[in-house]
Amino acid sequence: MSLRQLPSVDLLLRSPAAEAMLARFGRPLTLDAVRDALVAARADVRQGCSLPTEAALLAAARQDLEQRVAPSLRPVINATGVVLHTNLGRAPLSPAALQAQHDTASGYSTLEFDLLTGRRGARHTHAQSLLQHITGAEAALVVNNNAAAVLLALTALAQHKEVLIARSQLVEIGGGFRVPDVLRQSGARLVEVGTTNRTHLSDFAEAVTARTALLLRAHHSNFRLVGFTAEPLLAELADLAHQHDLLLVDDLGSGALLDTSAFGLGHEPTVQESLQAGADLVAFSGDKLLGGPQAGLLVGRAALIERLRQHPLARALRPGKSCLAALAATLLHYYKDEALTAIPIWRMIAAPAERLRDRAAAWAAALGAGEVLPGQSTVGGGSLPEETQPTWLLSLAVSHPDDFAMRLRHTDPPVIVRIEKDRLALDPRTVLPEQEPLLIAALRQTLAAERPRLPAPGRAEG
Ligand SMILES: *Cc1c(COP(=O)(O)O)cnc(C)c1O
Repeated sequence: MSLRQLPSVDLLLRSPAAEAMLARFGRPLTLDAVRDALVAARADVRQGCSLPTEAALLAAARQDLEQRVAPSLRPVINATGVVLHTNLGRAPLSPAALQAQHDTASGYSTLEFDLLTGRRGARHTHAQSLLQHITGAEAALVVNNNAAAVLLALTALAQHKEVLIARSQLVEIGGGFRVPDVLRQSGARLVEVGTTNRTHLSDFAEAVTARTALLLRAHHSNFRLVGFTAEPLLAELADLAHQHDLLLVDDLGSGALLDTSAFGLGHEPTVQESLQAGADLVAFSGDKLLGGPQAGLLVGRAALIERLRQHPLARALRPGKSCLAALAATLLHYYKDEALTAIPIWRMIAAPAERLRDRAAAWAAALGAGEVLPGQSTVGGGSLPEETQPTWLLSLAVSHPDDFAMRLRHTDPPVIVRIEKDRLALDPRTVLPEQEPLLIAALRQTLAAERPRLPAPGRAEG
């Protein structure tokens, strides 16, 4: 068998099958893939494989091209029941937020342009008044994420000074955000107060010195302090700070604007409560319980917000126009008192159990497989640790659950599931209704491949 019998690049590119590839992927990329396919074929032939057909060479090139252009950042179906799944992108946006993002990013906008004067405007204005109205704060500032918000606040207000924080709040929230590290990065000196499990107001009072700039309260985020524990109330900390002419900064993390306890969950502290308790500055995320885009929000006293805005770091941490557009549209849902129905994560959290059971039952019926069993969903995103909400799961018994879950990750779109007690568990709470047909198709396809390997009926599995 001779390598010379392999077709040339030119010949392959002239074939009708190559036409569609050229149209879809462009000439340089297609040429590259066809060359690669020929290189691979030559190596195979040298190893003793038979000569590939033209069709096989083009098919290999096509597969290669599909892989080269496939985005690595792509939509998935979240059937895990974790509403704010950080690894899956946290909060899905509302249609209005998406529309605002699209309208702003697809053309020019008033990002920093004042239509009244025809002169330069400020990007800070866009979400500011909505945040003031909703939270009751004097002023607001938006940055890239909450980690940036905390870094900016500490750098602008406490550089070269001391920051007091309870030992129990020196948290690591994942993704590399550790309160002590952010403090160090800001140039502030960390002063730990109290003990791991108990910190009292008097501990803070005794730690105040002439070098103290502020008291920091950090939400525990993803862990829970239980047992013989104590932490001062935010209002007590605020009073103490103000008696000494110091500031109280609250890193609220998730930053709910609505009360989660109405939905069978614990109470997640709200931004409004922090401000009412006397915090001078509250920092929280845009894509956790707010249900908007990735952003860091700072609300509080006008003079402090102005200092942050003037700081050079603010320029480095500023949000983009797509973020601001989506954020303003999301905040508008709160302003119009329609958050529970308009914001996807709040619809998920507020979903009635019967509705979830109906959806899981409809999936089981469509598949002719699985059982509908009670289970638990979680909010995630560093909010409400250990808290769960009752849900109904589609539970599938398959012979190799890990293998099956892996194959579901390779459907289009990929489906991400939980494995519980050796069964696949799919939670309707986090599956967007418009994704249901795709989910059913992915499950059908994966189950069909599984069927021949299922144990024969009547024989119990060991
Ligand atoms: C999530 C969280 C952060 C970081 O927020 P990002 O928006 O992810 O940067 C900071 N502090 C606390 C307490 C958090 O829960």
